[in-house]
Amino acid sequence: MSPQRVAIVTGAARGIGAATAQRLAKDGNAVAVLDLDEGSCAGTVSAIEAAGGTALAVGVDVSKADQVEAAVTRVGDELGAPVILVNNAGIIRDNLIFKMTEADWDAVMNVHLKGAFLMTKACQAYMTQEKYGRIVNLSSSSAQGNRGQANYSAAKAGMQGFTKTLAIELGRFGVTANAVAPGFVQTDMTAATAQRLGVPFEEFIKHSASQIPVQRVGQPEDIAATIAFLCSEEAGFVSGQVIYVAGGPLD
Ligand code: NAP
Repeated sequence: MSPQRVAIVTGAARGIGAATAQRLAKDGNAVAVLDLDEGSCAGTVSAIEAAGGTALAVGVDVSKADQVEAAVTRVGDELGAPVILVNNAGIIRDNLIFKMTEADWDAVMNVHLKGAFLMTKACQAYMTQEKYGRIVNLSSSSAQGNRGQANYSAAKAGMQGFTKTLAIELGRFGVTANAVAPGFVQTDMTAATAQRLGVPFEEFIKHSASQIPVQRVGQPEDIAATIAFLCSEEAGFVSGQVIYVAGGPLD
């Protein structure tokens, strides 16, 4: 059994983040559950505590430097040095390029890229001190291009370059950095896409599953399992990688 570590998962009130927070807690880590609204983290925190784990809810907008600094300091003070970081918080503002606004572009860049940058910068101070760290960034199969997602695909491709640079810079401190790139996962985010396209979610799922080699869509737990491996002690020789978790090959 690995020693108990302190993990931070952003956007952990629901979806992939909530499943990841629960899985990391099950693996023996104390988990800081970060999301925009502290109150919305209650469900994830009680699920972790009900299973015998330790969790702390922290409200933060990951795109705001002062909030990130305060949130990470609070985790450090209340749980201990955060040496596992999962940059999962995300939003979509989909539109075809000719209809996409500057605000749509900025919002997506700020949450995914700037958010991951700010969170990582704050946490690496602890990791380099501890000479141990695991960083996992959420990319996406959309990094390879997806209609209506010029902003999101650019951000998710950016996450891959960001990850590789972190791996190069932080490796000497015992810190690994990897990206997980999910395909279709059944969450509120894909439900919102179905709504935008005017397709009932069940139909959208059925159609998407038929295009996926394993013939089903992903569940948040599928992604959490891969993230958990990359966050584990034994994954110390895996760094700078992008792992597509999509029920089939993408890259
Ligand atoms: P989700 O269900 O929409 O959950 C995203 C969470 O992030 C929400 O709880 C949201 O809070 C939070 N969040 C948004 N902006 C934030 C901010 N500025 N600061 C802190 N938290 C913020 O999404 P998901 O499907 O689980 O996706 C999780 C990650 O996986 C995202 O990075 C997404 O891009 C990526 N991904 C998802 C899929 C998929 O098929 N679902 C595929 C590939 C990649 P609110 O509820 O308050 O908005």
